Amino acid sequence: SKETYPFKDYIRVIPDFPQPGIRFKDITTLLKNGKAYYAAIEEMKEAVQHLNVDVVAGPEARGFVVGAPLALALGVGFTPIRKSGKLPGEIVTAGYELEYGKDQLAMHKDAIEPGQRVLIADDLLATGGTIETSINLVKQLGGEVVGAAFLIELAYLNGRDKLGEIPLFSLMTYE
Ligand code: IMP
Repeated sequence: SKETYPFKDYIRVIPDFPQPGIRFKDITTLLKNGKAYYAAIEEMKEAVQHLNVDVVAGPEARGFVVGAPLALALGVGFTPIRKSGKLPGEIVTAGYELEYGKDQLAMHKDAIEPGQRVLIADDLLATGGTIETSINLVKQLGGEVVGAAFLIELAYLNGRDKLGEIPLFSLMTYE
């Protein structure tokens, strides 16, 4: 197995949150444990460092707690992907549909230089709507999405299909 640390032991599954039928994977129980959090970021770093990433982009809010430490571990910068209305500068936007709800995401126009190699990082891949929208934004800015990294992949929602040829790494998979 790819799991060298019992990461799933640190994930709390909460039934019927935020609405009936959703089995929410709560990562706060992993984040509060320094060893587990560090091991998770280290393992993600090792999985993606061959991609020669220039910048990590992460969607708010849980993409920040994965993407920013991963960027530091890789020795590259981090740029936030935010809900529209939050970024103060000139932006590009794209829309998406969530596992539970709809929203729109934005990036600063100068967040990425054309041709830069971008890794998108988030806590969890569900339907893939968030990653699809994030890829759209990076492409609008002329960046090249060279990979996507997640703590958790919900394999039964087939979000992976939204990535096409883009390499995907997930630390934990739920079937
Ligand atoms: P997707 O767009 O359907 O792939 O959903 C992924 C996004 O929704 C991520 O940004 C997650 O933070 C959030 N999300 C969906 N389901 C869960 C969950 O069970 N736990 C934590 N976050 C979730």
